[in-house]
Amino acid sequence: MSPKPLVALVALAAVIIVVGLCNTVGYHRLLTHRSFKTRNWLRNAITVACAQYSGSPMQWVGAHRVHHTVSDTEADPHTPLKGFWYAHCGWLFGSANPALCMLFSTSGFGLQGRIFLVDVRRLLGRVKPSWRALTRDLEKEPMMRVLDAPLVMTACFVAQVALAWYIGHWWGIAWLWFAHWFLNNFTWIVNSACHWPSLGERPHETRDRSRNVRWLALVTHGESNHNAHHKHPRSAQHGIDGGADLSWTVICALSAVGLAWDIQSPVVRKRAAAPVAVAVEEIG
Ligand SMILES: [Zn+2]
Ligand SMILES: [Zn+2]
Repeated sequence: MSPKPLVALVALAAVIIVVGLCNTVGYHRLLTHRSFKTRNWLRNAITVACAQYSGSPMQWVGAHRVHHTVSDTEADPHTPLKGFWYAHCGWLFGSANPALCMLFSTSGFGLQGRIFLVDVRRLLGRVKPSWRALTRDLEKEPMMRVLDAPLVMTACFVAQVALAWYIGHWWGIAWLWFAHWFLNNFTWIVNSACHWPSLGERPHETRDRSRNVRWLALVTHGESNHNAHHKHPRSAQHGIDGGADLSWTVICALSAVGLAWDIQSPVVRKRAAAPVAVAVEEIG
């Protein structure tokens, strides 16, 4: 059976927006930087949804914490000092070759292949889970450990493919491919475009090359206010220089219904508005 095109398009837009927000609000601001607190059931739901395309939360958070510690140095996992395409996705498979990187970025499911290979190498003892040393706080949570177990995310991806096939056969697979392609590339583009010297502005002095790229703010749910983010890593609000920031709007909405508290923001702190806590210049 095949769903009507309009229903499929509306569902695609909804999945892209909601699951994308699970990355920006969840993996990034909640798990990596501890910019606010929420209830455990919501924390787990956001994490499981984001894992469907981003993979293990502990691996994602571990890499991002390294990025903030050594931004734009040789040790940074995805600095554009090694090339725009290396920062975009080449770092995931260790290549700065633009053609290979473009192939990977358009492949849609390339990241799922990489997740599978890393897990196989873990099972063979060739990859040590070094990210766990950087995510001790998350390791205490059963859901984080389950999602980081080898082949769990691959099993979830196989289930996604099976469901897409059941609903729409090849159209279903194309639908799933586009969702992964869009979500991956507009997550990765923060690493490449928002550290690329000729794009956007740098209103804040930071020890890295981060930029605010306003025209990307809508499709990255506010993550492209990246210079502001590197200036105030713990802030739940990234659009402090006026850029769009849907993730912050969502966090405020969660706060309004009692689902977010201890929210970090240097801007709101200046206005002395409760219940926002004092922003601390730490990674997470
Ligand atoms: Zn950055
Ligand atoms: Zn960050």
